[in-house]
Amino acid sequence: MPVLPDIEIARAADKRPIQDIGAQLGIPPEDLVPYGHDKAKVSQGFIAGLADRPMGKLILVTAINPTPAGEGKTTTTVGLGDGLSRIGRNAAICIREASLGPNFGLKGGAAGGGHAQIVPMEDMNLHFTGDFHAITSAHNLLAAMIDNHIHWGNEQNIDLRRVVWRRVLDMNDRALRHVASALGGPANGFPRETGFDITVASEVMAILCLAENLADLEERLGAMIIAYRHDKTPVFARDIDAHGAMTVLLRDAMQPNLVQTLEHTPAFVHGGPFANIAHGCNSVIATRTALKLADYVVTEAGFGADLGAEKFLNIKCRKANLAPDCVVLVATVRALKMNGGVAKDALGAEDTEAVRAGCANLGRHIRNLKQFGVPVVVAINHFTGDTDAELNVIRDYVAAEGAEAHVCTHWAEGGVGAEALATRVAEIADAGEAQFAPLYPDDMPLWDKIGSVAKGIYHAEGVIADQKVLDQLAAWEAEGYGNLPVCMAKTQYSFSADPTALGAPEGHVIPVREVRLSAGAGFVVAICGDIMTMPGLPRRPAAESIRIGAGGQVEGLF
Ligand code: ADP
Ligand code: MG
Repeated sequence: MPVLPDIEIARAADKRPIQDIGAQLGIPPEDLVPYGHDKAKVSQGFIAGLADRPMGKLILVTAINPTPAGEGKTTTTVGLGDGLSRIGRNAAICIREASLGPNFGLKGGAAGGGHAQIVPMEDMNLHFTGDFHAITSAHNLLAAMIDNHIHWGNEQNIDLRRVVWRRVLDMNDRALRHVASALGGPANGFPRETGFDITVASEVMAILCLAENLADLEERLGAMIIAYRHDKTPVFARDIDAHGAMTVLLRDAMQPNLVQTLEHTPAFVHGGPFANIAHGCNSVIATRTALKLADYVVTEAGFGADLGAEKFLNIKCRKANLAPDCVVLVATVRALKMNGGVAKDALGAEDTEAVRAGCANLGRHIRNLKQFGVPVVVAINHFTGDTDAELNVIRDYVAAEGAEAHVCTHWAEGGVGAEALATRVAEIADAGEAQFAPLYPDDMPLWDKIGSVAKGIYHAEGVIADQKVLDQLAAWEAEGYGNLPVCMAKTQYSFSADPTALGAPEGHVIPVREVRLSAGAGFVVAICGDIMTMPGLPRRPAAESIRIGAGGQVEGLF
């Protein structure tokens, strides 16, 4: 039977009332703040009361380097969650919220696909519970307060040329990347150059996803650097007293959102920081809440394992004291073929040689992940058209790497298609073999931390940067920021900084062009290449075919 489009499957879902989903996790109805019938936030008070509970097993879903062929990390995260539920385990899923930018642009939805989806899919991909709007408002309140502070006398002596806090919008809008603000005369303030980033690139988003609670959120917001003075000293958000009001705007957004999969597995969908200039995973508060309520929590990290899993492990787990019990590495025949040199339009034909060549990418990710002390299982996300011979190539390759691979058909069949994977993942997690340790210690110099990721994960020969980058890192160390982890901003398509170097490139050098301090979020961003913080829409944006259909439903989301 052919698999219907994602939106049609999602629309036909037989959803349970959200109170029933909460009850599965032991959340009483009065601790759910319902947003309609099928979405709810979990109250701060209930979460605070969970502090002393033991935590379940944490399973991270990551992938080989992404290609336009598609890997299906979210789809596999959902399928695995449903697979665990089907084999009788108390499971929950944690993923990110969707940004409007990619929805109306090119990428499509963020709720999974086929018969492994989170519902209500339309809501999740559109405004959902308003969290991103709250983050946008909090971010722009600070921007308005900065310009207002300058307008009324600039007590902090902010250098107008060095205001680093920009504005944000949850939209792909290239026209706003660079703008001049406060034009039109003295009543409108002091003109200066600035610009907009997409909301998911805001440091406020990263902070919301790393903060433990509202008090921690407020402190981190206050610690953000917004500008520099004429003497080059930093001005913090707390210096203009913006952090309190920002926290008020974010109070509801800090509560994780609970929804369900097509098969009624509870799913926490909360936060959504960029995976380049930020760490790319859902909120700590959602992951921790899920771990207190479920025996198995399946979560996803953005992009491939070299970026997403590395940051999940080195930033989120380190900071939040989390430790995964098992990592699931998603691969597809199609993506391995592309890594093996096949062009996108030639993926239809069987090509075991290309699959074998592409496995070099998979193998490197397996070895990388093992360095963190966590067991790795490969999930082959099955696409119609994969041949047995191709699947066997992957199985044999993975076995030779000392791991195991499971072919999963959750996209076509739902959780039943991921039962074998779920059974093994649960066994591995239960066995408690993981001995997680981040790649580098807190007290390593910042430049060496960048080098340890470049060499240990990207297999680069070295890292290069201008003296001014090295001086900047040294200055931050002198100011007390030396203990922070590094957040690598690099192309997601390759282990190298060259997006066209697929497979397992060797002998490359990683150029660090710029470093930025996210002092509130608590990491130093190393920018290796051109990183876009405000995407543009493609020539034919998805928005052109999104509309309300005759029956009143949303059409054209995918
Ligand atoms: P990721 O999380 O890795 O970005 P998603 O899980 O969001 O990927 O999947 C991207 C797209 O690929 C979705 O539209 C989904 O429906 C589709 N997809 C995922 N797995 C399969 C599959 N096995 N067969 C066909 N399409 C798939
Ligand atoms: Mg995804």
